[in-house]
Amino acid sequence: MVGIGLPELLVMCFVLVVTLIIPIWTANVAKGKGRNWVVWFVLGFLLNIVGLIIAYVLPVQAGGDYMKCSQCAEPVRREAKVCKHCGADLLKRA
Ligand SMILES: [Zn+2]
Repeated sequence: MVGIGLPELLVMCFVLVVTLIIPIWTANVAKGKGRNWVVWFVLGFLLNIVGLIIAYVLPVQAGGDYMKCSQCAEPVRREAKVCKHCGADLLKRA
């Protein structure tokens, strides 16, 4: 009988994961580090697993969920009350 067998189904699932889930994963990792989601979705699509690895090793950038600490200039989460790098009180900011 001709049709979609288990091997073909597994290959289709693998292709779906590689072409869709990895770019979305890459974009979400990069966005959490203050990067542009759309740019990193495209990079994740083009570079795939390599793009995902780059997104993981990428340093955090001020912007998005992050802002620069006024005392030490390191990126810290916008919701943070105290800088995790230097311990500065971030609630005193203007
Ligand atoms: Zn700081």
